[in-house]
Amino acid sequence: MTLRHAIGIDIGGTNIRAAIIDSDGNVAFKLKEATGDTPVETLHNILNILLSQRSWDVCGIGIAIAGLIDTSKGVVMRSPNIPKLTGINIKSEVEKSYKGLVLTENDANAAAFGERFTGAGKNLENFVLITLGTGIGGGIITGNNLLHVAAEIGHMSINANGKPCACGNVGCLESYASATAVIGNVISEIENETDSILKDLYNGNFYKITAEDIYKTALEGDPLARSVLREAGRNLGIGIANVVNILSPDAVILAGGLTGAWHIYVDAAIKEASKRALKELYNKVNIMPSSLGDDAGIIGAAKLVFEECE
Ligand SMILES: [Zn+2]
Repeated sequence: MTLRHAIGIDIGGTNIRAAIIDSDGNVAFKLKEATGDTPVETLHNILNILLSQRSWDVCGIGIAIAGLIDTSKGVVMRSPNIPKLTGINIKSEVEKSYKGLVLTENDANAAAFGERFTGAGKNLENFVLITLGTGIGGGIITGNNLLHVAAEIGHMSINANGKPCACGNVGCLESYASATAVIGNVISEIENETDSILKDLYNGNFYKITAEDIYKTALEGDPLARSVLREAGRNLGIGIANVVNILSPDAVILAGGLTGAWHIYVDAAIKEASKRALKELYNKVNIMPSSLGDDAGIIGAAKLVFEECE
């Protein structure tokens, strides 16, 4: 059978990733640009480059976007991490330069579909992907298919009187367990003069600390980095227990830079989830890392296209 090709694009807060992908899920051509202050313009630049690649005749374009998406219209209803996209009709923007099939989806949903296609969820019928980055996102695969719901796992309340969240609620999971939360907690501990090797990074400008700095320092044994990650992990475990109790998945797949500290952050989450979830449901759950990493969104977005055009 001849392979078909589709374009997968993943619009995130930091980068727009895009690729031409074949119907076996292999990436044929890939590029990345910083999202910048004019994300729509960046998207048009990327489309120009992709559509000038005449070696591949694509059967459609799938676009994964960080935010709440009205997939029937292709409109971004709300994007806290890319505010300039709120209200933008991404489908119409793409149709200015491409006249074929254009599909939109939330980024974590697309990533879950990508993991189902060629990644860690390849042989799993029911699983939940949790993306742990600037925020926390979720995607649900049930009966081998993507559940087209919001799956905003990061905005699950885990503390009735907790920290305020950008969504307007208080006590959301992402305010306690995301990379942003971990960085914020480390900075406030350093401001309160808790000792850590992290305070000497960037010539003492510890406001520049990244999630990667924190998990690497934790792996080297820094007590502050370890305790902040463990606390974030315990909170993530509360979220996972809720997910397990509601959806009884076969697996929870975790994606994002913080999972680099698996034996600190994720082990704490597993321990907490095992204490809180219903035993009968928890016993059948595998908690595992994603295998596609940053490519999950583009691969999933392309797979959504293949479902329609194959
Ligand atoms: Zn929230």
